[in-house]
Amino acid sequence: MSKIIENLQIGLDENLEEKLQWLVPNYSAYRVRRQSVDARRRHSAHFVYTVEVAEAGEKLPEQNFPVEKIKKTPTTKPIIVGTGPAGLFAALRLVERGIPCLVFERGSESTERIKGINRYWRYGELDRRNNVCYGEGGAGLYSDGKLITRIKSDHIPYVLHRLVQFGAPDEIQYIANPHVGSDKIRRVIPKMRDYLKANGCEIYYNTQVTELLVEGDKISGIKTEHGKTFLSPHVVLATGHSAEDMLLHLKQIGVFLESKSFAMGLRIEHPQKTINQIQYRQWSEHPKLGSANYRLAYHDHKEDVGVYSFCMCPGGFVLSSGTEVDGLVCNGMSNFNRNSPWANAAIVVSVSNELFGKDLWGGMNLRRQLEQSAYQSVQKLGGTKQLPAQLLTDFMSGKISETRKGSSPSGTIPVRLDQILPEFMTAKIREGLQQFDKSMKGFLSPEAQLYGVESRTSCPVRVTRDDESLQSISHQGLFPAGEGAGYAGGITSAACDGVRIAEKIFEIIN
Ligand SMILES: Cc1cc2nc3c(=O)[nH]c(=O)nc-3n(C[C@H](O)[C@H](O)[C@H](O)COP(=O)(O)OP(=O)(O)OC[C@H]3O[C@@H](n4cnc5c(N)ncnc54)[C@H](O)[C@@H]3O)c2cc1C
Repeated sequence: MSKIIENLQIGLDENLEEKLQWLVPNYSAYRVRRQSVDARRRHSAHFVYTVEVAEAGEKLPEQNFPVEKIKKTPTTKPIIVGTGPAGLFAALRLVERGIPCLVFERGSESTERIKGINRYWRYGELDRRNNVCYGEGGAGLYSDGKLITRIKSDHIPYVLHRLVQFGAPDEIQYIANPHVGSDKIRRVIPKMRDYLKANGCEIYYNTQVTELLVEGDKISGIKTEHGKTFLSPHVVLATGHSAEDMLLHLKQIGVFLESKSFAMGLRIEHPQKTINQIQYRQWSEHPKLGSANYRLAYHDHKEDVGVYSFCMCPGGFVLSSGTEVDGLVCNGMSNFNRNSPWANAAIVVSVSNELFGKDLWGGMNLRRQLEQSAYQSVQKLGGTKQLPAQLLTDFMSGKISETRKGSSPSGTIPVRLDQILPEFMTAKIREGLQQFDKSMKGFLSPEAQLYGVESRTSCPVRVTRDDESLQSISHQGLFPAGEGAGYAGGITSAACDGVRIAEKIFEIIN
């Protein structure tokens, strides 16, 4: 029998195994179930563990999350549109159930995709197929790979386990803030693809799905940009939050859509050293601690508006991650070791859909308008590929001086970001930053700089689905999935949503 030991506190210079030996003499094996750092004030910084230990002569129970195969051979293959975490995990789960599928991706395989991204960062030439949001792996492939999620889903351990099976670091299954890193997740995705292909999936790259085929109120298949049609009564739509063209098509064919609240703002970057000193104080240089993290939130109750940090990337890079030739977007990522000298995070303001009344596209239009203003501001100054940036102190006092080199491979150009954002957003971000400096003294640092615009934190439109059948409320057979459909807000939640939908399709076919 194994036993669980919770709240095991281990000092930075102590050894976990020595402590375990003392607690469970001659234990035969152990598994860390959870690990976090506690560096709160008035404490000595230390690790907190939950550990599963097998006593002498015992074994730890296996954790493989086995999946039972379908009883009868399916006659049609489900179609999956998009190879982000939602699409890939839907395909994986279906394959494990014995249901191979047809998968369509507008971009290329990851090795080709990288070339497009590098050209964009280096020369400002956008590849409409292969960029930070489009191509094999979806937005998730180039992301920081933080796997933390606020959702509660039984599928989380399965998703983490399968990522480890395909090569992600084992620790993502137990640390409090699991993180794969852009470098490692890029190696995981091709292995998933090979597995899918080896198990009967057909994957069509450089193949944008341009139409959904409809018979009455049922989806019957898809048509690609190359004019080919593929029929199936089950279409999983996992096209991500950037594919506005697909949302427009859905509207045209009468699929029910609704607007939803979202968030937008800027990205802030500090020297990582500054964040380490604020968070870890006298332990900031301790080699076991690595790059410090933060999560900040402020709510203006009177106006019911939130300002919060999002997608914090310790030891990371700020990326130019647009998908349109006339727009600029920023985002963040880091490699597994999180060892760049900078720390960045989005600082976003909640935007209620009520602001746009009945206008379904109000949020999308605001998003496009901000991205275009950011692009034009750079062009006006003779920039080609740079991200618009402003020193934090300049943003707070409404002026412009220089910018710092920072981490972005695209470089920066000084722009009045405080004037690019709508007035209410600038005012709320300033208010939020003042509050953040109270909980993290030194956050309003003269060394920090802001980048614009962080406009793709989530999708302003939802493809509404039925809670039970997980199908569009207007079109049977259409399974809207992941972030673009409005049912996920990150890698893990999108992957879990894909698994949930795969399970529903399995239930229908079986
Ligand atoms: C730089 C960056 C960093 C991020 N960091 C993190 C992080 O650390 N942690 C986290 O949880 N989240 C992060 N995110 C967000 C995360 O990547 C997304 O939440 C997640 O990828 C959403 O998954 P998805 O499968 O719903 O959609 P996506 O990942 O967006 O995938 C959609 C896929 O569909 C394809 N597609 C679109 N339209 C079509 C079409 N018509 N036909 C065929 N294919 C189509 C696209 O090319 C794409 O591959 C980050 C995002 C970015 C851009």
